Amino acid sequence: KPEMDDDYYTFMNWVDEYRDMGVRTNADSPEDSARAREFGAEGIGLCRTEHMFFGEDRIKAMRRMIISETDDERRDALMTLLPYQKKDFKEIFEVMDGLPVTIRLLDPPLHEFLPDEKEEIARVADELGIDHQKFSEIVRSLSEFNPMLGHRGCRLGITYPAITEMQTRAIIEAAVELKMEGKKVFPEIMVPLIGTPQEFHSQKLVIDEVAEEVFEEMEETVEYKVGTMIEIPRATLVAEKIAKEAEFFSFGTNDLTQMTFGYSRDDAGKFLKVYLDEGILQNDPFQVLDIEGVGQLVELATKKGREQNEKLKVGICGEHGGDPKSVAFCYKQGLNYVSCSPFRVPVARLAAAQAALE
Ligand code: PEP
Ligand code: MG
Repeated sequence: KPEMDDDYYTFMNWVDEYRDMGVRTNADSPEDSARAREFGAEGIGLCRTEHMFFGEDRIKAMRRMIISETDDERRDALMTLLPYQKKDFKEIFEVMDGLPVTIRLLDPPLHEFLPDEKEEIARVADELGIDHQKFSEIVRSLSEFNPMLGHRGCRLGITYPAITEMQTRAIIEAAVELKMEGKKVFPEIMVPLIGTPQEFHSQKLVIDEVAEEVFEEMEETVEYKVGTMIEIPRATLVAEKIAKEAEFFSFGTNDLTQMTFGYSRDDAGKFLKVYLDEGILQNDPFQVLDIEGVGQLVELATKKGREQNEKLKVGICGEHGGDPKSVAFCYKQGLNYVSCSPFRVPVARLAAAQAALE
């Protein structure tokens, strides 16, 4: 439990009396979820799933999927991960106790799951029972010059539907099992890195088909939503088309900032310091939302999305979701919620209340 005295709780109760925008958290473990709830989070706005694939058995299954040559082989390899993923989601759903939990489908490029050093490549090849040379070639073929603009996000789910199938099945089976135990659960499935409505359509088809299959098998249903990250500038320009099928948008302002400025998230530190010292930038745009530029895209997509679908839920789950100035901007745009790391939840609550008062 956070080490806070009674005054903190009294104060935060006042804060919540004035706050009308939701505050969720970015969490991908039951521990973080529980901590965030203690800080007042009203749901999970972003559960990243990539970290769930790194345990010893799990990464082996993932690697087996990567070396597979057919969809059926990929499906078989990934299905061995189903019990693990189901357990991951069940534990998080239980902690969140009926609050919305937005689970993002796998996002990083696949080479992140592969070794890159020669000896390690040889060891893993032996473990997988594959020829060293052949495995080295697979590793090489997956390396990319520009991985953040490469084969990641929904592009993975589209080229390897088995990934979306397995993760959807895990989410829906976990949710149905909990419902059958009399527990409350509210899953939201989020597709990453959407740039075109067709990408979203193709992933939603897979998700809905798998959900229907599970409902039939288990003779029980659960309510779930399917939505998307808005983190590629193009997605903001065609937001009304995406909102025809998406039930929610969540701004991934880390990638949206990267792609709007053309600054690499991983390398910009080298020149950003000079830019800040010289006054070329007032703030680090990865920390404080660039209202003048990126903010316009947030405004545009929210407007276009809501014109198409007035029930569209809109949130933000980039780092900016916990920054007070950015939270105030999100409030002005009428976002339904901001989502940030557990420790920033109280600050986001306060910033949202201050924005409402203003
Ligand atoms: C984002 O891009 O803002 C986001 C939340 O996703 P990630 O940081 O995992 O790319
Ligand atoms: Mg992103």
